[in-house]
Amino acid sequence: MKLFAIFGDPVTHSRSPLMHNNVFSHLNYKGCYTRVHLTDGSKLKQVFFDLKLSGANVTVPHKEEAYNACDEVRGFAKKVGVVNTLINENGRLIGYNTDADGFMFAIEEFKKIKNILVLGAGGTAKALSGRFLEDNINVSVLNRSEKRLQYFLELGCSCYTWDTFEVTNYDLVVNTTSAGLKDEELPAPTDIIESVLDNTRYAADAIYGKLTPFLQLAKEKNITCKDGADMLLGQGVLANALFTNNTLALNDIKLSMQETFQF
Ligand code: NDP
Repeated sequence: MKLFAIFGDPVTHSRSPLMHNNVFSHLNYKGCYTRVHLTDGSKLKQVFFDLKLSGANVTVPHKEEAYNACDEVRGFAKKVGVVNTLINENGRLIGYNTDADGFMFAIEEFKKIKNILVLGAGGTAKALSGRFLEDNINVSVLNRSEKRLQYFLELGCSCYTWDTFEVTNYDLVVNTTSAGLKDEELPAPTDIIESVLDNTRYAADAIYGKLTPFLQLAKEKNITCKDGADMLLGQGVLANALFTNNTLALNDIKLSMQETFQF
């Protein structure tokens, strides 16, 4: 039996155990997936090996620390410095990022996306912005504080804090902040969010399982929007394929995971 886990703080809200365990039981894979509440991100590697995990996912706020903990980082994660999936490969910690492609899967139905505003500048914002730029999409980043914006400037994004922000037209606005996750906050002051939503065709939130104040306002303005559930599904399918070393068909993984979204 292989053991997998999700590390995060908070982590009780995570649907990942339900999603992965459903795949393991339906597709007869000898695996079990649990939650680990980790407050100190610097302990990630030690806890991973103490628990004898075969693989793990990493959520807020440890994804950048997960990158640093890895012995080797592969694929898109290497480009953005953010890891959400860990694999134990013969005692070496290998890091991947499945968030970005998971999000592209989620917004497939949003057409003609050329300009995106990303709210937040954490791990998820890094992964998504890097992926959007690969598709030649113009990316603006708006964050509460300035310290994390340098990375995005170097990547080629237009960057703003709440004080320097000037609204333009967007095709899509994505909330990647954790505002609204444990509280009822908007990702920026109300006047900014109002003007942003008045100038976009679509809105999306990385948070899932609740109607955040951001999505609530988007709905009130009749903007086509979606929460992070499809992104969660997309990143989960890709992570599960890594956990099971590509021995299961992607579509079978997807169908088993999707089932848990009805619970
Ligand atoms: P990080 O901790 O790396 O970054 C958080 C960002 O949010 C920072 O830019 C921070 O700003 C900003 N922020 C935090 N609180 C507030 C607030 N009250 N108001 C405005 N800005 C705030 O987090 P992650 O990028 O790992 O995750 C972000 C969110 O995305 C989480 O809610 C997570 O659950 C969700 N997520 C969902 C996924 C899915 O599959 N649906 C996948 C990945 C993430 P500052 O720099 O000023 O501190």
